[in-house]
Parts: sequence; C-alpha cells; structure tokens
Amino acid sequence: MERKICEECGGKIIHKKVDYILLGQNLGKFPADVCTKCGEQVFDEEVSEKIDVIAKQKGLWGLQAKTRVGKIGNSFNILINSKIARFLELKKGEEVTVYPESKDKLVITI
Ligand SMILES: [Zn+2]
Repeated sequence: MERKICEECGGKIIHKKVDYILLGQNLGKFPADVCTKCGEQVFDEEVSEKIDVIAKQKGLWGLQAKTRVGKIGNSFNILINSKIARFLELKKGEEVTVYPESKDKLVITI
C-alpha cells in the first residue's frame, strides 16, 4: 500500500532514505515515507523489523523500564535497573546531575 498523503497533516509524502536515531545512536539509513510538511516518518513493516534486529544487536532494546519512587528520610530515590546502568556505564559512587525538565520529566545527566 503506497501512501501519498500524510495522515497527520494532509501534506505530500515522498519516499526517501533517512537516518534512524535511537538513544543517540545512528542505526543506519532506511527507506521511509516522509511527509514534506510535518516531517512525519513512516517505515514499512519489513524495515521496522530490520531496525528492531539492529537495535537488539546493539543492546538498545528494552532499555525503558518502570520503577517506583522510594523515600529515605526527607529524600526520594529512584532505582535504575542493571540493564540501563550497564548501557550508561554507571559506576557506584559516580556523581550525576538531576533536574526537572518539566512538570512530568526528570533528566539525569552523567
Ligand atoms: Zn504530515
């Protein structure tokens, strides 16, 4: 099925190769339908599966995790699982910076 009009904004769609960036790493160029108006990119199923395989090979798969907020005294803590810690190469005792980016987003920089 070929898409010619963007479902989001009604803009014209062109077919071209685009870089796929996941967690700041470029997984390569892949063919996509790209809206010339809003920039929406759509990959077909075959391409999506290929991207998933590469993401898994690079260890970029399943890094999102649910965690609960704990409390120690007046401070709160959030546990980071070992998979994410390995990806970030976190070490015990390492100093990080924590700041709210908005009311519903917390950023930790290393
Ligand atoms: Zn669009």
